[in-house]
Amino acid sequence: MPTPLNDVLAALGVPANRTAIAIGNNWIPGTGETLHVRSPVDGSMLASFPLATANDLKPILDAATNAFHDWRMVPAPVRGEFVRRIGIKLRERKTELAQVVSWEAGKILAESLGEVQEMIDICDFAVGLSRQLHGLTIASERPGHRLMEQWHPLGPAGVITAFNFPVAVWAWNAMLGLVCGDPIVWKPSPKTPLCALATHAIVVDVLREFPEIPQGVVSFIIGDREVGEAIAGANELPLISATGSVAMGRAVGQKVAARLGRSLLELGGNNAMIVAPTADLELAVRSITFAAVGTCGQRCTSLRRLIVHESIADNLIARLKGVYSKLPIGNPLEKGVLVGPLIDEAAFESMQEALESARQAGGQVTGGGRIPGEGFYVHPAIVEIDAAAPIIREETFAPILYVMRYRELSEAIAMQNNVPQGLSSSILTNDLREAEMFLSPAGSDCGIANVNIGTSGAEIGGAFGGEKETGGGRESGSDSWKAYMRRVTNTINYSKELPLAQGIKFDI
Ligand code: NAD
Repeated sequence: MPTPLNDVLAALGVPANRTAIAIGNNWIPGTGETLHVRSPVDGSMLASFPLATANDLKPILDAATNAFHDWRMVPAPVRGEFVRRIGIKLRERKTELAQVVSWEAGKILAESLGEVQEMIDICDFAVGLSRQLHGLTIASERPGHRLMEQWHPLGPAGVITAFNFPVAVWAWNAMLGLVCGDPIVWKPSPKTPLCALATHAIVVDVLREFPEIPQGVVSFIIGDREVGEAIAGANELPLISATGSVAMGRAVGQKVAARLGRSLLELGGNNAMIVAPTADLELAVRSITFAAVGTCGQRCTSLRRLIVHESIADNLIARLKGVYSKLPIGNPLEKGVLVGPLIDEAAFESMQEALESARQAGGQVTGGGRIPGEGFYVHPAIVEIDAAAPIIREETFAPILYVMRYRELSEAIAMQNNVPQGLSSSILTNDLREAEMFLSPAGSDCGIANVNIGTSGAEIGGAFGGEKETGGGRESGSDSWKAYMRRVTNTINYSKELPLAQGIKFDI
């Protein structure tokens, strides 16, 4: 393991013996096969330790269930105080945690710092929310009656996360879930286990300040798909929030539905941007480049399809190729680098397969090759292609930008919507009517629709998620907190009569 990362993990309080399980401050070894974690940065071995299996899950579920009995009765603003302290600790540990993210997920340091900042932001949001978990008072049709609704904690929540946002997605769920009164059982990606250990160590540091909080309020279990499936099937977890591929979401969604549980699915995207004739091309080049090559194309919101008006296409494509030819690609921890590595060899292979499929469909590919050396560093690709090519309907988790041309806005919107996924979208235009049409019911069918910015880089204040195969879930801001609570409708009779609703007479 690179010494700097060892030191960083020690400074964060991660025990020297890496474990696949922790329940609060109780770090427990898994009983499964040994996991070898290699850094995408340089291929170095970051850690080796036994994974957990589905058999290791029961003590975690028991601890979370027991913790729930106490945690649900802690006043929400007091739960918010715990989250506030986590936010403060994250501020103190921001650089260290970001370094772990860069070493393990391969993000450039600026983006890793941004990811930790997102955790801090959601802490702040959740603290405010802890004093605003409000229901409605509703007019009753009956005299002497009051009708109202309350929101109560739902129960322990299972949170399954992907490798590409190895700490922020947990925080989006955990910070809201915790203030809502739900213990959190986290199943991180086995590709980024150290990010989970580091995050958990920060939380445990805060937990020490609150001896009255049961340890089972926060736990994690690192395992492969088998552990994820066991979590999805666990009746002890009324909510499963799962972030990852569509294939994973399909499996998890069905498993949770079979037990009539609640699932919140945040799955793959296939995000498009329409660039209209009036677009500011300077702004276009910058926003396209960040959205398409940032995180080496490994964001759920990465820009994958560019739909450009034919009158400006040649100019825009030439400018993009110019910028792409000078992109600083390399070690994500080095200053000035903008594009780090792909996560692993499998990601590189699937990128090459997608490019081959594009070529077979007549696509003109620029870039896409591997840069020799350790790690899977690639030149981001621009592919001019026909909108009918089958490959553009798939999400390939790599920096490939498919470029298509359009004549009429209605045609561009149809192209943008003609994929199975529905996460993020944007239009660049200075024509108000075009922008409003794009945002209208006949416009983008995605959960996120932007004007004059790219598809990636959402703020935590809005609800985040997408439609169609993206799964329909919403997390983070706005009223996403409602997914973590149960709504109870109360009717209170303060009269001496017993009038029935709908005027029904039932005299005995
Ligand atoms: P993945 O689906 O391979 O894995 C995600 C998580 O699910 C991991 O923890 C994995 O162990 C677990 N898992 C896999 N199969 C499972 C199963 N059958 N049952 C239960 N758990 C299972 O995804 P990945 O490669 O880690 O991440 C990339 C994908 O995630 C992309 O498709 C990306 O678009 C998506 N993603 C979506 C969002 C969003 O908010 N919409 C955010 C980040 C990533």
